[in-house]
Amino acid sequence: MASRARPSKAEPAFDAARLVNRATAKLRAYDPGHDLPALRGRFGATIAELGSNENPIGPSPRALKAMRAALTETFRYPDPRGMSLKRALSGHLGVDVDRIALGNGSHELLMLLAQCFADANHSIVFSQFGFAVFPIATAAAGARAIRVPALPRSHRSAPCGHDLDAMAGAIRADTRIVYLANPNNPTGTWFDDATLASFLEKVPRNVLVAADEAYHEYVDAPGLTTALAFAGKYPNLIVTRTFSKAYGLAGARVGYLIAHPSVVAVLERLRESFNVNNVALAGAAAALRDKAWLAKSRAFNRAEREWLREELLERGYRCLPSQTNFLLCALPRDASKLERHLFERGVIVRPMGGYGLPRALRISVGSRAENRRLLKALP
Ligand code: PMP
Repeated sequence: MASRARPSKAEPAFDAARLVNRATAKLRAYDPGHDLPALRGRFGATIAELGSNENPIGPSPRALKAMRAALTETFRYPDPRGMSLKRALSGHLGVDVDRIALGNGSHELLMLLAQCFADANHSIVFSQFGFAVFPIATAAAGARAIRVPALPRSHRSAPCGHDLDAMAGAIRADTRIVYLANPNNPTGTWFDDATLASFLEKVPRNVLVAADEAYHEYVDAPGLTTALAFAGKYPNLIVTRTFSKAYGLAGARVGYLIAHPSVVAVLERLRESFNVNNVALAGAAAALRDKAWLAKSRAFNRAEREWLREELLERGYRCLPSQTNFLLCALPRDASKLERHLFERGVIVRPMGGYGLPRALRISVGSRAENRRLLKALP
């Protein structure tokens, strides 16, 4: 059937791209990777979805039950303040509700921070190979990006990771935000609490430090806890988290941040009033209560990731150390041929050319069956 939106012969020539504002002109549409719904149709149950760092064991059954119950309420708007989830988070984290903001995924909150606090008069600092949303948020706000070279590939504990000393040194008078991801996507690398502490000491109070902890629940490295430990001392510190990873709720779209109440109050000015839907609110609160499921999710990921890493190493693929639910694997040559080879066999992984790492592939830790499919499909 012909689409109604298709231009008819009578429609005059029109290109909205010419009307776009200056900040948006610099942006390209988000590249979601492959067309997964189509690929599911093509490969059926034999597909291995290892491209988006999702949780293969899924959400807590208690979260699913709460979400089903919440479906009956979807004719109502959700609570615009999301108080039930905020209270649950407040109890879980030991922070007051006025220090919490909820987002339609943490992606939304990372964007909102730049939109609210930076504009064309400001710069934003982030690391080379830092999370992809940081440069997008910077450009969307019209701010200048200061991309700080990553640690060298030969670095002992964080090859290609954030160089926090260099990042502190890159802060200028017009800098409003420093984005950090700990652990970082796509490198999987991390920095410990002591490194963060000395970084925070160097950052002026009028610069916001946004510590993205999307993979926090997977972390178990010695010396690494959470940036939240420093929130009391540094009111300019913001911590973002998500229910998309260890809680297995990527499709529900719920993230949150913890910040000084004045930061939250500013974000509230621009936050869409019903940004987190009532099914997601119910699911996230229930997921938070199911500590046993989270423990299972973490244990599964740790064991499976290390098994997969060993198996890949045996086949000659070097992977960076990871505190996340994915591995960044370095190849001796351009990785696009291997990515294509795997794709043709229904194994979806993420090429890293867009990050300036053409010889790397990011491979999410899947179920044991998916991981076996990957290993079997390798040439
Ligand atoms: N931060 C990092 C480091 C991520 O890898 C992701 C998701 N890939 C996000 C934030 C955003 O996650 P979400 O919007 O699903 O909360």
